Amino acid sequence: MRIAVLALQGAFIEHEQVLQRLGVESFEVRQKKDWLQKKDGLILPGGESTVQMRLLRELDLLEPVRQSIREGLPVFGTCAGMILLSEGHLGTMDIRVRRNAYGRQLGSFNAVGKVAEVGDDIPMTFIRAPYIEDILSDKCRSLAEVNGHIVAARQGKQLAAAFHPELTSDDRMHRYFIQLTS
Ligand code: GLN
Repeated sequence: MRIAVLALQGAFIEHEQVLQRLGVESFEVRQKKDWLQKKDGLILPGGESTVQMRLLRELDLLEPVRQSIREGLPVFGTCAGMILLSEGHLGTMDIRVRRNAYGRQLGSFNAVGKVAEVGDDIPMTFIRAPYIEDILSDKCRSLAEVNGHIVAARQGKQLAAAFHPELTSDDRMHRYFIQLTS
């Protein structure tokens, strides 16, 4: 089992550390030749989605990544990574996302909540977070809501979270993703 972690910008190291704790091998994708390695899944980290989209385009990675996900490569996007999966970006998940959805002041906060299919009392760290304002097809399922807004969803082997599970010591979201890859 080997998981690719998009390492162009943002909080990718924290994902690698969680995978290491779980005994799962990972490698960083910084350029096209990295992408060509064999992989069982992909993590799209948080950060700045506009920068990540620009770099994906410049490095000629946008189409290959989109195509692999469409062909069934399991993917886990957190925060900016969730934005990447949404309509108007990679567009592989049938979700419409509102960026910086809580405004500048309320953009960063912690919550604890149930994530369907994953568990109860999941700690959720939101940093200038987006939320899912609409699910656009019945292939996609809402997994969690905070303050009446959808903050996690799954569509087949695509998992998205508006929060940052890699910044907590709770590994359940990553464990769940690893299950999806097998
Ligand atoms: N606000 C960022 C964006 O729009 C996402 C923030 C994050 O990933 N922590 O891309």
